[in-house]
Amino acid sequence: MSDYINVTKIFGENVFNDKTMQERLPKKVYAQLKKIIADGGELDLETADVIAHEMKEWAIEKGATHFTHWFQPLTGVTAEKHDSFISAPLENGDVLMSFSGKELIKGEPDASSFPSGGLRATFEARGYTAWDCTSPAFVRQDACGATLCIPTAFCSYNGEALDQKTPLLRSMEAINTQSLRLLRLFGNTTSKRVVSNAGPEQEYFLINSEKFFQRKDLVYTGRTLFGAMPPKGQEMDDHYFGAIRQKIGAFMKDLNEELWKMGVTAKTQHNEVAPAQHELACIYTSANVAVDSNQLVMATLKRIATKHGMKCLLHEKPFAGVNGSGKHNNWSLCTDDGINLIEPGKTPHENIQFLLILSCIIKAVDKHAGLLREAAADVGNDHRLGADEAPPAIISIFLGEQLQDVVNQLLKRGIATSSIEESVLETGVDWLPSVDKDATDRNRTSPFAFTGNKFEFRMQGSRDSIAPPNVVINTIVAEAFCEACDELEKAGDFNEAVHDMIKENLVKHQRVIFNGNGYSERWVREAKRRGLPNLRSMVDAIPELTRPETIAMYEKFGVFNEAELRSRAEVKYENYAKSINIEARTMIQMASKDIIPAVSKYNRQLAETIIAIKDAGAGDASVETDRLNVTSRLLKEARDAMCILKDKEAKAIHVPEGEEQARYYHNEIVPAMEALRAPVDELELLVDREMWPMPSYGDILFKV
Ligand code: ADP
Ligand code: MG
Repeated sequence: MSDYINVTKIFGENVFNDKTMQERLPKKVYAQLKKIIADGGELDLETADVIAHEMKEWAIEKGATHFTHWFQPLTGVTAEKHDSFISAPLENGDVLMSFSGKELIKGEPDASSFPSGGLRATFEARGYTAWDCTSPAFVRQDACGATLCIPTAFCSYNGEALDQKTPLLRSMEAINTQSLRLLRLFGNTTSKRVVSNAGPEQEYFLINSEKFFQRKDLVYTGRTLFGAMPPKGQEMDDHYFGAIRQKIGAFMKDLNEELWKMGVTAKTQHNEVAPAQHELACIYTSANVAVDSNQLVMATLKRIATKHGMKCLLHEKPFAGVNGSGKHNNWSLCTDDGINLIEPGKTPHENIQFLLILSCIIKAVDKHAGLLREAAADVGNDHRLGADEAPPAIISIFLGEQLQDVVNQLLKRGIATSSIEESVLETGVDWLPSVDKDATDRNRTSPFAFTGNKFEFRMQGSRDSIAPPNVVINTIVAEAFCEACDELEKAGDFNEAVHDMIKENLVKHQRVIFNGNGYSERWVREAKRRGLPNLRSMVDAIPELTRPETIAMYEKFGVFNEAELRSRAEVKYENYAKSINIEARTMIQMASKDIIPAVSKYNRQLAETIIAIKDAGAGDASVETDRLNVTSRLLKEARDAMCILKDKEAKAIHVPEGEEQARYYHNEIVPAMEALRAPVDELELLVDREMWPMPSYGDILFKV
């Protein structure tokens, strides 16, 4: 890789994007494909053959030897099976490189090898991947060589969604249809499509590879299961936005280059709050493409880190006591002709369309708060939500000063007659340029915050796909729009009906609005008083997927059917139980094979020292004796806690799978793990550094 990056030249060079298609596809074929991308529909095989051929020729020029359908099963990561372009050798022994339309549009991975939460028991094992032409194909260059990756949806034989993409595409259709209905009511006859946009911000940790491999917990579970706090954590606030160290800078440079080549719009990079923590944000785009690019970002982060002798940790809470990592999902709705429906303008009080949309969003979030919370439910995220670093597990909306003022006027008087204006920032220094202040400040503690012309969902875990929150937001807002349109389309006096509806939505659902400190205990009590759900853990949140209201809504908008929802809940319960099981087993192994023997050795050394001091007949062995008393006591505590954990772990297989087993892991195993961790973390601070069997937090976080 050269030092100089010509960004405009390399950006998108490995993407079969619009420009490439226009250059390479016959005019008629290009027009046909564009029409399908814009309006939906099916490609005929003949056209697909032409596209596949051109795509293959282009990919081979980029060095590609293989192609793969690239999809997102419910494993949390992407899946792919590579096929080379070679066809059976000719008689003379030569091979040809081929790629047919059929291979482009359809693949047949064995669905039974992916999580399906019961769908595969009820239906056939066969599964299909289908080309999603709305997200461009790309060539990825890595140790495998170059591979043509074709973004695909993954469904069962009967069409049930087995992936993240299918419901997302369905939800984008739903919000498109309902948004257009609403726009028509306000006299918009020109917009043809409304797209939900997403802009994710991705947090991650970078640590030294060698140290990573010295810790079984990081290797097997992605997080540290033991570990005492170093003397310095993040309390000095000196890492956030701090100067980027050279080693990390070199990593970021390579990362950006790789992402830009694949058309991923890596934009913002900075150090995050915790030591060794960083963030990358891409420019927002259609939710579908954003979901795919975020998967590429996560995979590329890991790949490039390894190249630089580091490991990228995407776990939500790799280290106790320092901030974990999340992902912010910025969401908005935009028409094909460039109107952002979430843009209030300078005088929101006059923007009736915006106020209706806002009131619908408030209604949607209040009505389906639990479901939105569920979208962020992940084993790792249980360590974040509710701790003072991520939003609480309670869903609320932050509106900010300007919109709150308009809402207050509406609630008080039925009409709003003014909007707080932007003002100029007073710095007190003459020669600094005058800066316009936004009409609204930020609130970092809110899970769903209005941020000027978009909403920011701030709960998502760092490892998770951003598809689920976008599916939820698109569908719940589509439902609210639909209910509004059903009524307004029949209204005699449209203006009056809109005003009444805005007021009604606000009156009924204002309880979900909260502009204060979401981290405070007071809010937890206040939220309870308001009747807002507080789903503290993943196992508490999963049942939201199968509530009758959820099923009815998703079925109405064709996003999920009941079987799909039940299957997703099953997959999540299973995932929870399996993940905690792996963590518990890793802890038991580390305690029994590494930690307990190390402490025993240290105790023996202390004992020998005590005897030696006593034998010498001079000196005082009380320091060593006191220490030995403490370490022996903690060692026994650790051993006992390990036995309890082992015992509970062994019983888990007798608990029926599904919800019951997940709850068992949550209620029994997790506390037993905490009980084992406590004495071990104390021991770490006492035992000789040389004898401790793994690198400490200090070694890992401050010596990357
Ligand atoms: P922060 O919220 O930390 O200030 P940034 O401004 O860096 O973060 O990033 C915000 C994210 O929101 C970026 O991914 C950006 O592209 C995205 N974003 C900006 N405008 C919109 C919009 N209208 N719809 C969706 N996402 C948006
Ligand atoms: Mg943000």
